[in-house]
Amino acid sequence: MTPHPKKTVRVRLAPSPTGPLHLGTARTGLFNWLFARQQGGKFILRIEDTDQERSEKRYEEGIMEGLLWLGLDWDEGPRFTKHESRSMNHEYIGDYGPYRQSERTEIYKKYLQKLLDDGRAYYCYCTKEELEAQRQAMMAEGLPPKYSGHCRNHPEPKGKLPQVIRFLTPETRIEFTDLVRGKVSFESSLFGDMVVAKNLETPLYNFAAVIDDEEMKISHVIRGEDHLSNTPKQILLAKALGFEPPVFGHLPLILAADRSKLSKRYADTSLLDYREKGYLPEAVVNFMVLLGWHPKSSPSQILSDKTRESEQEVFSREELLKEFDLGRVQKAGAVFSQSKLDWLNGEHIKSMEPKKLYAYLKPQLEASGIEAPPEFLEKVIAAERERLKTLNDFLTAAGFFFELPDYENKLLKWKDETLPEVKMNLTKVLEVIEKVSAANFEQEKIRDALLPLSELGDRGLFFWPFRVALSGRAASPDPLLIAEVLGKEETIRRLNLAIEKIEGVRENYYEQTG
Ligand code: GLU
Ligand code: ZN
Repeated sequence: MTPHPKKTVRVRLAPSPTGPLHLGTARTGLFNWLFARQQGGKFILRIEDTDQERSEKRYEEGIMEGLLWLGLDWDEGPRFTKHESRSMNHEYIGDYGPYRQSERTEIYKKYLQKLLDDGRAYYCYCTKEELEAQRQAMMAEGLPPKYSGHCRNHPEPKGKLPQVIRFLTPETRIEFTDLVRGKVSFESSLFGDMVVAKNLETPLYNFAAVIDDEEMKISHVIRGEDHLSNTPKQILLAKALGFEPPVFGHLPLILAADRSKLSKRYADTSLLDYREKGYLPEAVVNFMVLLGWHPKSSPSQILSDKTRESEQEVFSREELLKEFDLGRVQKAGAVFSQSKLDWLNGEHIKSMEPKKLYAYLKPQLEASGIEAPPEFLEKVIAAERERLKTLNDFLTAAGFFFELPDYENKLLKWKDETLPEVKMNLTKVLEVIEKVSAANFEQEKIRDALLPLSELGDRGLFFWPFRVALSGRAASPDPLLIAEVLGKEETIRRLNLAIEKIEGVRENYYEQTG
């Protein structure tokens, strides 16, 4: 890793609160957070709300809520408080605040004035129409359009108002070593004298970001590739102000499956929608880290054809903190895959402690009015977690544990047995179950007890109606597992219910045919 004169690692996420937290910003946050945590550094949240018209408090809140949902806590930045009084919360954590650009006007003003005083920036008086005319003239000459530099040579024309402040951009080659892309270089002669502020009170993004990165002692700027073209401009500004620029790293773009730019449909959905849809933050974090980073394959894996299959893809947060390596981030665009996200979600649900899953499921359990002791709920969760793709599948999948759904007695038939035969088989199961001790009502014990029955022939003849009797459904976990979770008493009750369902029919059956 490139050493930096600012010895402590200090990185930042600098979202603009002009919309909900998106996948791209969240991924940038994750990579910064992992890097900071690995390096014993600081992760800073800075709200870039200079665009007062488009910035909204509710978006700022949403961004913070989303980051915290993902477990990306910041060491410095605005304190998160939701739904408090409508007035802005000015509380910050950290010594380099305020951490909202809208509250840093005086700081930017000081530096803008310095650039103007040093003759490194100047007021531009050109109106929109004049700029357009200059542009047309350059294009007519076959030159790439850029600001002509007119006001650099004609300061303070009489009777005109300044329109913007421009940076006197030196014509030079800017080279830097990007943490991801390696050596990158730009010719600043292509930029023209760039606008750094509308006026002393209104700096633009590139200028404000440079000042903040310096004042907040940012050591590494890790952000999306869409900002790559801003980097040479920020380096020039930093140098003009006598700052040591930070180290830069640009993360690959996130692409749709056909390698086109990720469509609005994905890019514009709020990250918190994933929470609403039943995704675990652990899975979303895992998914995001793979959008640009891949673990190292061992040399033997590289030689084998099975590299892709054997490459680990499921990572816990702890594993990521160990394995993640900014130096292994890919340059090529990262392809978004919904099926990968779904698969990862299932994997994380499968391996999550029932206690922890219970905490995630609690809101929906409460909303649906299910009241059961936590120990029972945890057993149900353990029984169902392998079958869930999202947390939102839980109630549909596990509802029968809490309330046996009504079902038709036909469902109890395994193959072409008659209902009286089914009843006979269920009665045999019931007799066996009644002999299993209630204290040791466990899968293995129940299986052993049922063993002689399954040796009578097709085990489906017993296990199928047993499953249906317990769940009321054709698809469910193993009936032995359901029985264990339900306990002896409820298992017996449900078996009796199934038998009763058939008894009613049997009478009708004989009435009609006999
Ligand atoms: N406010 C910028 C954005 O949201 C941040 C760019 C940067 O990280 O410098 O894209
Ligand atoms: Zn001008």
